[in-house]
Amino acid sequence: MQVQTQFYPRYMRPMVLLVGLAVYVAFSFGLVRYGYVYAAENAFIQLTVIWVLGLLALVFLPSTVFSRAFEIHSDSLVLYTTVWCNLGVVAMAVLVPHPLRLAMLVVPVFGIFYAALHLSRAQIGWICLITWLGYGLCNLSLVTYTIVDVQFETLSGAIFVLLLGAGLLLSWESIRLRDDLQERNIALRKVMGRLQEMALKDEVTGVHNRRYILEVLARQKALADRGQQKFTLCYCDLDHFKQINDKYGHAVGDAALKRFAELATSVVRSVDYVARIGGEEFVLVLVDADDIAATQVSNRLRERTKAVSIPGTDSQFAMTVSIGVTPYRLAEHVDDLLNRADRALYHAKRAGRDRVVTSS
Ligand code: GH3
Ligand code: MG
Ligand code: MG
Repeated sequence: MQVQTQFYPRYMRPMVLLVGLAVYVAFSFGLVRYGYVYAAENAFIQLTVIWVLGLLALVFLPSTVFSRAFEIHSDSLVLYTTVWCNLGVVAMAVLVPHPLRLAMLVVPVFGIFYAALHLSRAQIGWICLITWLGYGLCNLSLVTYTIVDVQFETLSGAIFVLLLGAGLLLSWESIRLRDDLQERNIALRKVMGRLQEMALKDEVTGVHNRRYILEVLARQKALADRGQQKFTLCYCDLDHFKQINDKYGHAVGDAALKRFAELATSVVRSVDYVARIGGEEFVLVLVDADDIAATQVSNRLRERTKAVSIPGTDSQFAMTVSIGVTPYRLAEHVDDLLNRADRALYHAKRAGRDRVVTSS
């Protein structure tokens, strides 16, 4: 299932950033134009230009050669970008004594919200602290060359603390939600993986189940019909299995099924398939193998089954298996293939069990 993660086209984010910057720059120039700035016009404009260029470099260069060359982690880039953005804004804001400054001080709060999408609680805390200290230092340096309105500065400093504090709390809350969501996603993915496995694997033996092997047969049939790859089916049924259960108990019966599944997996190649399709019935799908090769493999499996020891049984006990082997015939139905293999198996049982019967 395709999950949609992008709500808007890729170019929207840089576009929004550029528009935001343009509005901010226009606003700054407006401040200069109408004389709301303490500093010399040139100084303010230079500061704005340096800030904008630095921000653009931090945002756009890393997606090119820069980050690959210096291996900068994208999270640290968010940290640098937010700190740069916030310090630039507060440095410009202190040069605007007018209450308009308070409008400028809202911008760092957005920076903090943005950073909260990517960074940890501690990093957000540091950004808030650095932003506020930056604001304080800029204010102090202002005192050295101009007369400041102490009341206004105290008030705006306090409001800025409140703004940053509120931004910090909200972003911590959003980080908690983000982490919760991530944890749930991981748990969900684990459950989905487990469900998928359960849907395709047999719980007792760990080999594939009936549903999966029918899908495999349909796929192999399509390949064979296109002349790409023939295959052969081996239908295995453990002999007198009911007696194993009756004599030694169900748990030992389960152990015997598991042991047989291991043996079957060990005799085939990694490209072949082993599945348990019923109680004590297994199917092997041997890819790109004819009935002669499949008969050899089946006989090897039969011999090993007889020789294997099952925990919980006595030393004289020997488990045996009967196997019906048949190759896929071009364009036939999968059911016909299974029925033919089943008939061959029936003949093996009738002939005395512990044998392989091949129907070409
Ligand atoms: P045959 O040689 O003719 O195949 O005889 P059989 O006893 O193997 O065949 P039958 O169909 O009479 O019995 C199959 C037995 O397999 C019956 C059932 O108790 C057992 N069986 C089926 N599923 C499981 C399972 O998951 N665990 C265990 N322990 N036994 C199972
Ligand atoms: Mg059976
Ligand atoms: Mg049986």
